[in-house]
Amino acid sequence: MPRHFRPALFAAAMLAIATTAHAQTSAAGFDRLFRQIDDGEVEVVNERQVGAALDRLQALLPPGDARRARLYRATVCSLRFPHDSRAAIAYAGRGLDEARRAGDLDAQARFEFCRGYAYETGDIDAALRAYDRGLQLARRAEDARLIGDGYVLRGAIHSLQGEQALALGDFLAAQAVFDRARLARRAETNLLNIGMAYRRMGFHTQALVYLRESENYARAVDSYPDLYSALMQQGYAYEEQHRGDEAVRLFDRALALALARGSDAIDRGYAHLGLAHAWLARGDASRALGHVVQARRELAVDHTADHEPMLDQAEGLALQMQGRHRAAIAAFDRAEPLMRAQDASRYLVLLHRARAASEEAVGDGGAALADLQAHDALARRLQRQADGQQVTVWRMRFDTARRQLEGERLDLERRRRDQALRALERERPWRRLVLVLGLLLLVALAALALLQWREGRRLRLLALSDALTGLANRRWILQLAQRAVREARREGRPLSLVTLDLDHFKCVNDAHGHAVGDAVLARAGAAFARVMRRQDRLGRSGGEEFLVVLPGTTPEEAAAIADRLREAATSLRLDDLAPGLALRTSAGVATLRPDDRRLQDLLQRADAALYRAKAAGRDRVIVAD
Ligand code: GH3
Ligand code: MG
Ligand code: MG
Repeated sequence: MPRHFRPALFAAAMLAIATTAHAQTSAAGFDRLFRQIDDGEVEVVNERQVGAALDRLQALLPPGDARRARLYRATVCSLRFPHDSRAAIAYAGRGLDEARRAGDLDAQARFEFCRGYAYETGDIDAALRAYDRGLQLARRAEDARLIGDGYVLRGAIHSLQGEQALALGDFLAAQAVFDRARLARRAETNLLNIGMAYRRMGFHTQALVYLRESENYARAVDSYPDLYSALMQQGYAYEEQHRGDEAVRLFDRALALALARGSDAIDRGYAHLGLAHAWLARGDASRALGHVVQARRELAVDHTADHEPMLDQAEGLALQMQGRHRAAIAAFDRAEPLMRAQDASRYLVLLHRARAASEEAVGDGGAALADLQAHDALARRLQRQADGQQVTVWRMRFDTARRQLEGERLDLERRRRDQALRALERERPWRRLVLVLGLLLLVALAALALLQWREGRRLRLLALSDALTGLANRRWILQLAQRAVREARREGRPLSLVTLDLDHFKCVNDAHGHAVGDAVLARAGAAFARVMRRQDRLGRSGGEEFLVVLPGTTPEEAAAIADRLREAATSLRLDDLAPGLALRTSAGVATLRPDDRRLQDLLQRADAALYRAKAAGRDRVIVAD
């Protein structure tokens, strides 16, 4: 080799090393920034921030790296065109074609999501289809982030279409995915979605659990939009339960927050509108009217007029409270056509009832009657819808628990398999052969397991849920209880059980027939489900008996919950099934003791307490000592 070649070769080698090193660092840098943008850790809420983030990402893109280039373009797609859906759809279409040719599932899913989001403003069904396709691709790519995101996006569409049960199902599914993949930030952002869906279905207790959690999270990460929404949603939940004091407190906090952050007028306007309704619930019409005026002023900047009927309705209710019935009727009349156009049945039903009262007060009996009839028809329709949605919700809740259990089992199996493989690797001479054989065996086993799983799934579902109430059946709730006992022991946390037995249920059957008895059982199950917290489990343990598992719950807390369950039965409206029909229930509460050997010991104490509740005159809760 000639002498002068050496330095040149050396320089070339150094350059090669430097370039590879640079390519590596920039690839790592790209991945890091991409992840940060994808996880919402880089703020991209205005055009300047979007431009800066995309420029940085592009600068980090290693030359000739087609896969990362697609990720870059998917990011462009979702950030660059917030107000130009046509451009976004076209861009996503091109991205999809390329990703499909490259067989890149991840990028395909992202472009489908981008396209779906762009469709949302014009063609909601097309958006739904795009999200469905994206979700399927995400599943094939086995990417937890994308799968969860797909569920959240689709859930939002369902919610928009008034399909709250489907929305809730998607949000809960997303939560299970995020929890399992330990994607804490996404899981916590999703709490608000779950809380809102529960609220819209009328499950206020559940809703408040999630919304409070969401509030705490939003405060911890200092996110204004999440905090504002969590406060507003809690306000609505209280107001819908006619708890005016709490509603005023929450809307006041939302308003104070919006004022302190100098946020836009729309946030302030909706806080005032909330306050108007909250003060109505407290019976203070003049304060309510004051807030309507302020809400009108702030919301004037919003030209969509979505809020107009709600403002008119609040005004009408306040005027009515002051006895100014003609003005109230005029306000309701203004609200009605827009509400009808927006298909806002939940508000219309209130409007009919309120207007009927004012019409009666001014002596217009005919109009009052017409409004009452409209109210009844609409209320019945909403009730039917709600009943259908409730059944779906129990199935889903119970489904999520089942999926979680199944996931844990699979994790365990995977860990065992990994251990076995590692042990095999140590046996050097046979390693290859054994590995190959082992893998072949695994493939065969997996195929077999899949077949079995498919076949067994339908049967399992049937075998685990109770057909009448949609709750967990005896076998399943006992299994859940057993698991709760193990967890309580392991974590050193308290665990309580409640057994419920409907009072004199035989008389219900005897007096009104078995069909009515069945309907009462289903409604009792639904009423109990509404009282549950997120971690609680409920099942039908026998004919007219229910079992509730309360993890992490002391005897005092369990007694309070048992009493809420008892009240839930008492306050059930059953007049439509049989006039004068009412329900009472007795409950026994027991808490796990260190000397309990089996679940059976705990169950026996709860049953003994229940027996004492019956003997002491029923309709009461007794805590085992
Ligand atoms: P107590 O207050 O002591 O619990 O009185 P009870 O009448 O509820 O208790 P008892 O155990 O004597 O009767 C239970 C009744 O529940 C008898 C049975 O017909 C009824 N029952 C059990 N399962 C079902 C069901 O699936 N559907 C209907 N309609 N009734 C059921
Ligand atoms: Mg019984
Ligand atoms: Mg009974």
